[in-house]
Amino acid sequence: MSVEPAGGPLVELRDVNKHFGALHVLRDINLSVARGEVVVVIGPSGSGKSTLCRTINRLETIDSGTIAVDGHPLPAEGKELARLRADVGMVFQAFNLFAHKTVLQNVTLGPVKAKGVKKSEAEKTAMELLDRVGVADQARKLPAQLSGGQQQRVAIARALAMKPKVMLFDEPTSALDPEMINEVLEVMIGLAHDGMTMIVVTHEMGFARRAANRVVFMDAGSIVEEATPEEFFTNAQSDRARDFLSKIL
Ligand code: ADP
Ligand code: MG
Repeated sequence: MSVEPAGGPLVELRDVNKHFGALHVLRDINLSVARGEVVVVIGPSGSGKSTLCRTINRLETIDSGTIAVDGHPLPAEGKELARLRADVGMVFQAFNLFAHKTVLQNVTLGPVKAKGVKKSEAEKTAMELLDRVGVADQARKLPAQLSGGQQQRVAIARALAMKPKVMLFDEPTSALDPEMINEVLEVMIGLAHDGMTMIVVTHEMGFARRAANRVVFMDAGSIVEEATPEEFFTNAQSDRARDFLSKIL
């Protein structure tokens, strides 16, 4: 039997099923993510990776099964739901910063509005976070004045400002020009090394090899295979995973 770290898994999905109409998009998903663990989720387009992230963040409901973050199960409503959601930071493919707010305002808005943090305190924390992701000098600009890589780093800072227990990344670099991918991945690798619990949907094998503890391969709504990055990329067990890897590597 494996030894669970103190406090049990930070994120736990048990027998989770989800349909969109007739489409069975998540099939009996079982996934435990330990504190400090970095899990990379890969799989073909349409396999359910984004839906998986969205259910963990409570942006989507589930039909059956349970999802718990830090021991707090779904379903949750109202204030309780808002509090649980703050535990889960999310960074999407498209940088969805507020276009008419400055970079600094983008990062302070959540803590001030949703957590009642004093503006001066929120700004101090925001500047520290912007410095950490390397864009402190952009704080007074509007998002459109930044490059895509800079905007995505602001999105990471904005998520971190809520002090989440786990960070979800859904293809955070797939909308970026190639020369900007690494600056975002470096920030994510730094977070991983600092002990952040992370679930990362990405096809960036370099990131998986450097930062992931585990790779989860999804196909057609199911988790088909789980392995260390080393194992997965050199010795995938299932035909579906080998077929997928042959197309992307
Ligand atoms: P992935 O992120 O792996 O590409 P998604 O989770 O986005 O996959 O989608 C899984 C399947 O669910 C796809 O077939 C997609 O078309 C479908 N789907 C996703 N969101 C919705 C929705 N809101 N309504 C109906 N079908 C959806
Ligand atoms: Mg997706």
